[in-house]
Amino acid sequence: MSVSQKAEKYSEKCVYCEGRGYFQLILGGSETCDNCGGNGLTSNVKR
Ligand SMILES: [Zn+2]
Repeated sequence: MSVSQKAEKYSEKCVYCEGRGYFQLILGGSETCDNCGGNGLTSNVKR
């Protein structure tokens, strides 16, 4: 039996927010990451 390794989706942790989906502000609070749209993942799909 062989397991296919092509089942993985092309989604990686956002390198900007490290997968959190938001930035932690020094002054307090948080800001939604603009790179991943707040879900913490980036896709390889380019527009
Ligand atoms: Zn992000």
